[in-house]
Amino acid sequence: MKISDRMLQVEESPTLGTSNKVKELKAQGMDIISLTVGEPDFQTPQHIRDAAIKAIQDNKVNHYVATPGILPLREAIVAYHETHDGITYETNEVIVTTGAKDALYGLFQTILNPEDEVIIPAPYWVSYTEQVKLAGGIAVIVDSKSENEFKVSVADLEAKRTGKTTAIILNSPNNPTGTIYSQDELEAIGNWAVEHNILIVSDEIYYNLCYNGNEAVSVASISEEIKNQTIVINGVSKSYAMTGWRIGYAMGNKEIISKMTEFAGHSANPAAVSQYAALAALKGPQSVSEEMQQIFEKRLNHFYPLLEKIPGFKLVRPRGAFYIFVNAKEAAEMTGYSSVTEFSLALIEEAKVAVISGDGFGFPDYVRISYTLNEETLTEAATRIEDFIAKKA
Ligand code: PLP
Repeated sequence: MKISDRMLQVEESPTLGTSNKVKELKAQGMDIISLTVGEPDFQTPQHIRDAAIKAIQDNKVNHYVATPGILPLREAIVAYHETHDGITYETNEVIVTTGAKDALYGLFQTILNPEDEVIIPAPYWVSYTEQVKLAGGIAVIVDSKSENEFKVSVADLEAKRTGKTTAIILNSPNNPTGTIYSQDELEAIGNWAVEHNILIVSDEIYYNLCYNGNEAVSVASISEEIKNQTIVINGVSKSYAMTGWRIGYAMGNKEIISKMTEFAGHSANPAAVSQYAALAALKGPQSVSEEMQQIFEKRLNHFYPLLEKIPGFKLVRPRGAFYIFVNAKEAAEMTGYSSVTEFSLALIEEAKVAVISGDGFGFPDYVRISYTLNEETLTEAATRIEDFIAKKA
């Protein structure tokens, strides 16, 4: 069958690819600990599920709803940001989307012409590069160093800026590294973007998941000029254990949001029932989200030292999200594998622990390890990895 050139240049999401492989092996009865997933292991809080059921019973979800999202949800999103980071938006500066992933997809379709460039600091979330390509744009990767906690500076960005640079993606807290940019670092990058009229795409999906006293700052909260130059991407998936409900949003410049709404009018907008659930998440008790954050913090503090002592593993302590990004080059060499990708495949098959190889994030010497499992399972996973390396080294 004919497949478009556009799709042929897109690579399968390695995170979903590995998760699917693990599901298959588990279905065959293999006892695999999967540290691959990018979602909380908790159930969606009860009051959120109840609100969805009530919306169904009250006949609120049986018809098409407004393309940019139901008004009460857009109002709740605006109120949430006013309270949490002191930024004020109008409701027509918000579009509700099918997860944050769809917000990013619609945004790139809206802002990019063929050959327009988007600067993406590496390591990066796997879908950024593919979504930019799908919109006809060019992903311009800016490498970072582990010594700088995988952060890029204005000088790094300036070195990649051309007349075609249209946008830069910031993702703080970051997937896969858990890095958080400070207010000063964001201000410097924000002012650089304003000066050169480059749109900041600020993916803040892990905004609430910061640990050990660290806090994330929304770049849009720094100044009015930077806010006007920024589209904030966020959603309820990670903060409220709602990945299956598929609700995200984009927020910023009216004209861009209005064009994204036209785009959604021809593609899709999210299910009404999920929008009522998201409304309950944002308006209900925030303690549910805080409790999950505290559990992740405990898991990080438990798991990090276990991984840190594994021979051949080099780690940078994450500040947020729920991943640890490990340089496993030495571990791969010690155990006789020619690449970290091969090492991570052997980990699945022989150690029965699944992690994601870093090549999809632009850092092939690394693996991304999620800690969205209980402490006992995390301990078992670390033991299995350590034993595997000891046996092979
Ligand atoms: N942005 C980042 C950095 C992510 O890690 C993810 C999910 O893994 C998303 C966006 C997509 O989130 P959603 O589930 O709301 O589509």
